[in-house]
Amino acid sequence: MKKVDRRSFLRLGAVTGLAAGIPINATADGSSPPSASSQDSSRGVKNYVRLGRTELKVSDISFGSFPLRHGEEHVVHHAMDQGINYFDTAESYGDGTSETVMGRALKGKRDQVYVATKIGAGSRDSAASMMQRLDESLSRLQTDYVDIFFNHAVNDISRLKNEQWLEFADKARSQGKVRFFGMSGHGGYLTECVDYAVEQDMFDVLLLATNFGEDPAFFERFTRGFDFVANQQGLRASMAKAKQKDIGIVAMKVLRGAKLNDMRPYEQQGYTYSQAAFKWVLNIPQVDNLIVTMRNRDQIDEYLGASGAGEVSQADMGLLQQYAKMTDASYCRHVCNDCEGSCPFNVPIADVLRMRMYATDYGDFSIAKQEYAKLDANASPCLSCDGRPCKDACTYEIPIADLCGPTHTMLT
Ligand code: SF4
Ligand code: SF4
Repeated sequence: MKKVDRRSFLRLGAVTGLAAGIPINATADGSSPPSASSQDSSRGVKNYVRLGRTELKVSDISFGSFPLRHGEEHVVHHAMDQGINYFDTAESYGDGTSETVMGRALKGKRDQVYVATKIGAGSRDSAASMMQRLDESLSRLQTDYVDIFFNHAVNDISRLKNEQWLEFADKARSQGKVRFFGMSGHGGYLTECVDYAVEQDMFDVLLLATNFGEDPAFFERFTRGFDFVANQQGLRASMAKAKQKDIGIVAMKVLRGAKLNDMRPYEQQGYTYSQAAFKWVLNIPQVDNLIVTMRNRDQIDEYLGASGAGEVSQADMGLLQQYAKMTDASYCRHVCNDCEGSCPFNVPIADVLRMRMYATDYGDFSIAKQEYAKLDANASPCLSCDGRPCKDACTYEIPIADLCGPTHTMLT
């Protein structure tokens, strides 16, 4: 399909009636989707929420900066102009580029926003090395402190058991460099890690991968139409335990792969799949707000159309259902990891497919390449493997061998 960005799509729809004319699944009950005016994004952020015990009041839809690059400071400024006040970055995003650009964009405006960044602190990292990395992040961000500092992409409890983290955290907090600490995760052991962190009361905020496709409640609504099951069955219960301790919960990976252009023909009058996906996540009682990668002004405007939105409508459900149908055969859930151990050559299948998602779905080819290069093991063995060992390893019948080999070729 020819790629159509949102602006082109809307223009095309206005001229040809394409958007309004296509019979959509968006209305499972036959009702019309909300009108464009009801999803009008021109008013920016419409809801600020309390992020648990941090007491920060953050925009319900907030800024993810994974692909932020030099010269894109204006994207941050537009987000601020629209009322977004929570900006998420990480040392690893573009090897520090995202933090650097964010720092430039926020110069002189730092006190108007909350900034969160992350390092992946390992099980053997010292407190001193963590402090050094925090200092480097602060320097790139041109600030003396961050509001939230995450241990990034935790998928192994041994990383949480590293007492050096606690020593580091105490020191960084007492020096005023960090206000609150958090943990982010999107791997197969997410639930176990969350449970451990909550039990130990280690963090004030959790940044968790979740979306309608990971939520058992979504599938309960479509038991006839779907024959696959949701994963992360335990995540809601873990979130509930976190909430009992008033830990803030930020959702990420909420677009379930972000194949947005595939959905354009099914969207009407600017009312979009993204907005439906955001509404789903923001309606999870334990979720406070969400972050999503924002690349440009149009995307920010589109996304903020769901800020302050109410309950998930039938029209929303139709779009989510359509998306699930279209992407199910190729969308790797990452957090399920059911295929782990199936490859005799130790190809990290979920990681490889996540890099593929960055390249082919998010369109962030250079980032995907960078991140792929950082993997301890990659998919090179797939090039000379007949694919039999992993053939039936995916619970969701994703053709692992068909995707991993070409991903290696594409990203090396
Ligand atoms: S194709 Fe072969 S090497 Fe690649 S993941 Fe499957 S089993 Fe492993
Ligand atoms: S390939 Fe399939 S089994 Fe493996 S992580 Fe992805 S969705 Fe789960």
